[in-house]
Amino acid sequence: MRVLVTGGMGYIGSHTCVQMIEAGMTPVIVDNLYNSKKSVLGRIEKLTGVSPAFYEGDIRDRAFLDSVLAEANVEAVIHFAGLKAVGESVEKPLEYYDNNVHGTLVLVEAMRAAGVNSLIFSSSATVYGDPASVPITEDFPTSATNPYGRSKLMVEECLTDIQKAHPEMSITLLRYFNPVGSHPSGEMGEDPQGIPNNLMPFISQVAVGRREYLSVFGDDYPTVDGTGVRDYIHVLDLADGHLAALTHKGREAGLHIYNLGTGNGFSVLQMVEAFSQSAGVEVAYQIAPRRPGDIAECWADPAKAKAELKWEATRTIEDMTTDTWRWQSANPTGYPEL
Ligand code: NAD
Ligand code: UDP
Repeated sequence: MRVLVTGGMGYIGSHTCVQMIEAGMTPVIVDNLYNSKKSVLGRIEKLTGVSPAFYEGDIRDRAFLDSVLAEANVEAVIHFAGLKAVGESVEKPLEYYDNNVHGTLVLVEAMRAAGVNSLIFSSSATVYGDPASVPITEDFPTSATNPYGRSKLMVEECLTDIQKAHPEMSITLLRYFNPVGSHPSGEMGEDPQGIPNNLMPFISQVAVGRREYLSVFGDDYPTVDGTGVRDYIHVLDLADGHLAALTHKGREAGLHIYNLGTGNGFSVLQMVEAFSQSAGVEVAYQIAPRRPGDIAECWADPAKAKAELKWEATRTIEDMTTDTWRWQSANPTGYPEL
């Protein structure tokens, strides 16, 4: 199966390409390298023995996409490309709506013109807003509190309308919970530019000595120890979820929606403790005020994906922290420039 992977040089996309190649699929990558480095390609080749086709360009460039699709002969698209920092989205809403919403519309137009009818979209648990209860099932109400979340919700709504109007299309919305971890080889991992927004890369940069301490955003939530609780999922489990979605739904016309999570919640302090154990390094932290917009707790009910995609997360918190540490300690400043 030949599949176009937009954003395939990024964190989740690169791990998904490795898993696809291992499974005998052929990813064709489109990425503008806005948030990734070209050296990722060499790592994919080192791990799999295959250097995937890579087209450097922007998904908002229709002529570019048309030429890629004319050449690549793909049957489906996995659409990772987009911007993902919540705080930045408040400062730069235009860029977020342009990349995430407009970018997706240009992509779908190009797919329709090329006769490609199968799409898997990277959505997020952020579309559940502040859920009334946990665990969260796919039929919970959706809402957004910031431009990033709103862009994901808008794309979900656009794709729902598009699928209704073009019932021959197969569109799958995958709502990720909190992707963390790295390839166990230590060759590939998360490489955020600047100060990390997310918990796990921040912890690992403290552990490797790039940052002094972690600020724990709030210890007065109604949770097990007062700190925020999330459903952390290993990036390879998440990657495998895409393969399962392609295999089980990619050729079935319709709109398909799945949570990709483990069903378990861990607090910030539990993550700090697990990481310290794996790395054998004390992770310094200080309690700080709550981060605006954060919710107390959030975890998935992954039963629908298990039943219909025959997929479930198998990797443990220890796998997530150990693999992250292997990557971070071997690549303290991330991927090399090329
Ligand atoms: P990432 O930034 O590592 O990867 C995204 C890739 O897309 C990057 O390589 C970037 O260069 C590329 N890109 C961005 N805009 C582009 C454009 N206009 N044209 C071509 N390429 C473009 O991010 P990630 O963590 O791998 O996330 C992938 C997707 O999953 C995103 O859509 C993100 O919103 C979604 N998601 C991520 C998380 C998370 O915590 N990482 C959680 C939920 C959903
Ligand atoms: N968090 C924290 N310090 C940080 C980054 C995150 O305490 O430097 C907390 C955050 O408040 C939340 C959890 O870690 O409770 C996960 O945050 P992240 O930004 O990784 O993901 P989110 O669930 O917000 O998308």
